[in-house]
Amino acid sequence: MTDSPPSSIDDRLYVLRTRWEFYVAEGRFEQFIEFAVAVNSLAEHLNRMRLPGLVRVCEGLENAALARLGQEDTHPLSEQDISALQRQLDTLMGAVASAKPHVPDRERRIDAPVGSAAAPEADWIKPRAVWLISAPGQADLVEALGHQLRYFGFQTVELPWGAEPPVGDRPLAVLFIPASGGMQTDDLACITAIRGTCPASQLFYLGVASAIEPIVELMRAGIDVAIPAEEQSARVLDRILDLVQNIEQEKYRVLVVEDSRVAVALIQRTLAEHGIDSHAIRDPGTLFDVLESYRPDLVLMDMFMPRFNGVEATRVLRQMSAYSTLPIVYLSGATDVGMQVEALRLGGDQFLTKPFNPVLLAAVVKTKIERFRETQRSTRLDGLTGLLNHTAAKSRLASLVQQLGAPNRHDEQSQPTGQGALTVAMIDIDHFKAINDTYGHPVGDQVIRALAWLLKGRLRSSDLIGRYGGEEFLIALPGVNLDQAVAVIDRIRSDFGALPHAHPGGALHATFSAGVASFPMFDAAADLTEAADRALLHAKRLGRNRVEAATLTSHLHSVA
Ligand code: GH3
Ligand code: MG
Ligand code: MG
Ligand code: MG
Repeated sequence: MTDSPPSSIDDRLYVLRTRWEFYVAEGRFEQFIEFAVAVNSLAEHLNRMRLPGLVRVCEGLENAALARLGQEDTHPLSEQDISALQRQLDTLMGAVASAKPHVPDRERRIDAPVGSAAAPEADWIKPRAVWLISAPGQADLVEALGHQLRYFGFQTVELPWGAEPPVGDRPLAVLFIPASGGMQTDDLACITAIRGTCPASQLFYLGVASAIEPIVELMRAGIDVAIPAEEQSARVLDRILDLVQNIEQEKYRVLVVEDSRVAVALIQRTLAEHGIDSHAIRDPGTLFDVLESYRPDLVLMDMFMPRFNGVEATRVLRQMSAYSTLPIVYLSGATDVGMQVEALRLGGDQFLTKPFNPVLLAAVVKTKIERFRETQRSTRLDGLTGLLNHTAAKSRLASLVQQLGAPNRHDEQSQPTGQGALTVAMIDIDHFKAINDTYGHPVGDQVIRALAWLLKGRLRSSDLIGRYGGEEFLIALPGVNLDQAVAVIDRIRSDFGALPHAHPGGALHATFSAGVASFPMFDAAADLTEAADRALLHAKRLGRNRVEAATLTSHLHSVA
């Protein structure tokens, strides 16, 4: 068994502070490593909670610690180094404290379907305030951006350039909107001042020239995202919505193939401290079964084991197309370079020597998995909206239906809720061809993206949202019955209809129609989408801008 990792931000901060105090008191190398691991673990957790400003501060401390890692004999560090790290640690503690909202936010979703469990760290719900700091002459842009932001549930605070920031909760994001002529001399000072008071907020600068120098200057002053002048201001909203989107990341999974119990315990403990899930096998003979059932993102492979060695096991895996790109990292006590090169040539991705440095192990594992998942992701997501694409949405729906298992239809008198429920919706924008024809394709694209954002903002992270076709979306809401789903989708429908979409001559409004069908009335993925599609067609025939539910009778009618 491994130690259970600390669970909340507060626990992690406590661990971090304690480890630092131990190190300051005794000054041993291993204590410093433990401290560095705790910093990394906190950064990882903040990242999962999508608190990018805090991640940045935390990574600053991590970099400073790694720069001083050195060897056994460079510890204890000089007093100067210790007080430098102490200052950075204090800054981090202060940033975390100021980022924590004073009053817990209410549930932000206007119409979250029932059954959405309260977040374990409810008091850490991200602040939803956005400050717009603008130069004179930008009132129109500020007004337009403010309108859009408020529509998506953000509170906006408008400030003139150089004003004193308000006291109280720090914002999620700050938008700097400079004069249209470009950057002025005191812009950077103003940004630096805000960076100082809002260490954990994401700072945006709109309308920078596309050249390296000004962007580097802005970043040095504390800007996180510099948006070039020629990019649509719609990009800003996209980025801010990204900050609050809970992309429910599956935990990273590492398969450890290692015959030494001691090594396994150490590895699993390090991985657990970084929030990485792991599974260990001692005999590579069971590798295939475990790969299939556990679906790891990376294999940590011991070099020397009974029966087969790590290189042989890797060579076999590389023969199979399903595992040809799975990252494989060798662990070995041997430091023979020739042997390491040979092992890499035969299919491994990297070589780590035992005893391993836990900071390095975690960094290697995480970066390899990030890349691996990134390449997997680009084949699953739609480029325009970031939603699941057609194929990925269909396969996700199939697995949701499969998880529900085969129902006993005759026992289902009333609508199930909770565990056994699942509702699918097909959404299609009304008269979309006319929008394209009248306002042009780019405006049409913007309407599609706006609907995607609205769905992402309103539905839960456990819900499936896919772009099924051009202006058509597939949604699946686990644990939600037909009536509940109709209410949720209908609310989104009416809000979408009220959303203005900017075009060069003003603003247009669009609507959508939706068809909804539920499990277990329809108990296969294909039946659910087909029934929802039929209900959608019905909604179109009844005049559009409405939500229709599929019934078994309508199903039978159309089959007959
Ligand atoms: P209805 O109310 O019956 O749904 O009418 P409609 O005009 O929305 O339906 P139709 O299916 O005839 O038109 C869909 C249009 O969507 C046709 C196609 O050119 C356009 N389209 C498909 N993909 C995209 C896209 O990615 N961007 C844009 N701008 N248009 C797209
Ligand atoms: Mg071994
Ligand atoms: Mg269509
Ligand atoms: Mg349409």
